[in-house]
Amino acid sequence: ERVVLAQLKDVPAETQDGIAVSLQANIELPDEAESALANGATGIGLFRSEFLFIGRSELPTEEEQYQAYASVVRTMQHRPVTIRTLDIGADKALDGEATVATNPALGLRAIRYCLAHPDLFATQLRAILRASAHGTVRILIPMVAHMHEVRAARAAIASAMAELDLRGQSYSKNVEVGAMVEIPATAIAIEPFADALDFLSIGTNDLIQYTLAIDRADNEVAGLYDPLHPAILRLIANVINAGIRVGKSVALCGEMAGDPQLTRLLLGLGLTQFSMHPQQLLSVKREILRAHSNALRVQVATSLNRASPIDPASLH
Ligand code: PEP
Ligand code: MG
Repeated sequence: ERVVLAQLKDVPAETQDGIAVSLQANIELPDEAESALANGATGIGLFRSEFLFIGRSELPTEEEQYQAYASVVRTMQHRPVTIRTLDIGADKALDGEATVATNPALGLRAIRYCLAHPDLFATQLRAILRASAHGTVRILIPMVAHMHEVRAARAAIASAMAELDLRGQSYSKNVEVGAMVEIPATAIAIEPFADALDFLSIGTNDLIQYTLAIDRADNEVAGLYDPLHPAILRLIANVINAGIRVGKSVALCGEMAGDPQLTRLLLGLGLTQFSMHPQQLLSVKREILRAHSNALRVQVATSLNRASPIDPASLH
């Protein structure tokens, strides 16, 4: 099967009715960019930056971060590289930092943490911006729930650019800024975010956790962690439709994107940008090549508002 799939590497991901789909990779370490390319990824849809910060007692320097980001950007050769700013806190605590929050998943994590630690955030932003001199970089902000967080993140990016200008260091002035949509409030009241940001990426791993009140790491309730819950599908549809209305790109980078059994369902919801573990890219591409996007859209639209969950296997 792998042999047959390998032949799809350079085949454009397009449905039977001619809808072009973007298939990008999620990576956690710089050297995984090679595997993204080997599996035909047209870009990095999610570069998690936590690896630089976890399991050590000192923060990574700007130079160390710059080298790590730039190596991925060079490997990808002008394909877009979406670098997510630090998503620390909760299950991903910094070394030596006592987690005192009673409920860390609802605590000071991700963009909240970065805005509370402006020097750490500024260092990372300068490193990302410097990497943008070598290709196409996009900045992705995790766990956004408030528009003031978007404004504060954009202000921090502008300051980082001003600092690089002072130093005479080069970067791209056209770096796009997007947000993870992974908090239900953001997915419900998505319009101002779609207007203010350059792109959106739906993080279903956290979106499911927060919508269904299921800790994604708690085995005792894992059976209730249900990507097909009608509320989840409606939130995904709401974000995709808002992106279409205002002409902003919407990707999905949670585990759902890499499950070939869910590809037809996601196409039916109108998704055209998927980002996943490199190992899943070709299986998902095979599903896309077989799919009739418009027929799927009709089937999903008619069942989206029913109380009973959609059976993804029944879609054709
Ligand atoms: C998500 O929440 O869906 C996501 C892609 O990010 P992470 O799994 O790193 O929280
Ligand atoms: Mg997340």
